[in-house]
Amino acid sequence: MATTLHREKQQKVQQMAYNYVQRLKLRNIRQAAVLVINNRTQAVEVYVGSADFADKVQEGEVDGIQAVRSPGSTLKPLAYALAFDQGKITPKTMLADVPADYGGFEPENFTRNFVGSVRAEEALVRSLNIPAVSLVRETGLSFFLQKLKQGGFQQIRRDEKKLGLSTVLGGCGASLWEITHLYHSLARQGRYQRAHYVKGETRAPAQVLFSEAAAYVITEMLARGQRPDLPEGFENTYRIPKVAWKTGTSFGRHDAWSIGYNANYTIGVWVGNFSGESVAQLIGAEVATPLLFEVFNTLDYNPPQDWFHAPKSLQVRWVCAESGLPPADFCNNQVADVYVPLVSPSQRCGHQREVIVSEEGRTSYCFTCMPAQGYRKAWFPDLSPALSAFYEATGIAYDKAPPHASHCTRLSENQAEAPMIVSPSTAHEYLIERDDPPEMALECKAAHHVQTVHWYLNEQYYRSASPREKVFFKAQPGQIKIACVDDQGRAAQASIQVRYQ
Ligand SMILES: [Zn+2]
Ligand SMILES: [Zn+2]
Repeated sequence: MATTLHREKQQKVQQMAYNYVQRLKLRNIRQAAVLVINNRTQAVEVYVGSADFADKVQEGEVDGIQAVRSPGSTLKPLAYALAFDQGKITPKTMLADVPADYGGFEPENFTRNFVGSVRAEEALVRSLNIPAVSLVRETGLSFFLQKLKQGGFQQIRRDEKKLGLSTVLGGCGASLWEITHLYHSLARQGRYQRAHYVKGETRAPAQVLFSEAAAYVITEMLARGQRPDLPEGFENTYRIPKVAWKTGTSFGRHDAWSIGYNANYTIGVWVGNFSGESVAQLIGAEVATPLLFEVFNTLDYNPPQDWFHAPKSLQVRWVCAESGLPPADFCNNQVADVYVPLVSPSQRCGHQREVIVSEEGRTSYCFTCMPAQGYRKAWFPDLSPALSAFYEATGIAYDKAPPHASHCTRLSENQAEAPMIVSPSTAHEYLIERDDPPEMALECKAAHHVQTVHWYLNEQYYRSASPREKVFFKAQPGQIKIACVDDQGRAAQASIQVRYQ
């Protein structure tokens, strides 16, 4: 059987993977797999299923390219490509990254921090979880799964009925072979076709997963120079090839992934242990990316002028920097963005809203409570309740309308619905024992339809819970600011003092 493997490249990469894991053994990481697909011929040129085939102790005979594992964040680019094609986003679209509840599923970011408001392009390279999950929800989970199945993901096909929104965060099974093909489709203008490794093999026709414009836009996002997921100090030590790439780390840190492509090659790297043992240092960006770049540098370092070209369907326009939407009169800060006419979002920016305020600007009114005279109109940011509540809870300064007139009857109705912090009691001083600090309970009262509340301690997100659930925390001496935000974005705040007895 004649294979498409390129003997010289195969040997080089095999050796590289072997040397690479020798250096990682001290960190208890013992295996790696590398797949190289030629984008022009769609032939598999390198197939390294295990870093050390002779090493029987480490089960070196397992094929690390076909083994099914959690793909971590490596499926996220597909969510963005589909959202682009459905006209939900362009690179500059602002997305919310605030605590959210998706019917009992509460994703948090790898770093456990939320950033508030973030551009789509930024959200993808920072691999934020909330924006990815909400894009899949908006474009449809079944559509997302259908595209994965179309793109050759076999385990996902088998498990389809059990899979939820967490699929996009790696809550599913996939192989290096399948994941590398997703990026191969990005390199091939959105068309999926199984690569071949037997010469003269008959092949199924290509399937369109997403548009050429979406493929180009995602490629540009993933090829940006400034990357938070570059391994530490990497710029100084390594030659960084021009590639579009994405990393992933599975739940529990069992698997590290880094997949990249340029016009000539798509390369997938997996690093981990065949036993599935988890390792604290097993982070895609840290342990898989250096090997990915090494392979690129050896096989195809920065091919001259050989990058992807923007398709004709993609055009450039000015958008409001605050929202990523076509600017309204009040949008002074504008940036260039790419879009597809008649597909991309076309509604005008509404990042500000007009508010009726008192002459001196210290009170705001609605039509119910505005006085007959002595008022004027002013513009303020129009934030979603969830975002403004997040800013309030985390102490991020933002331009906001003055407090609503206290005599307003509409306000008191709305206010009555906001959550109340029942424990601890605000403005109280709590004495705790130094040797044995107790756990303090957070409790609230919320409107009956509220499903989830988000707790913040000293302006840091702490936990999300049902409003009927007691949440505990270990108190430290000093002032503690507590905020409780419900799923409608309504907030309550409290502040306590804690001292040692
Ligand atoms: Zn605007
Ligand atoms: Zn009012």
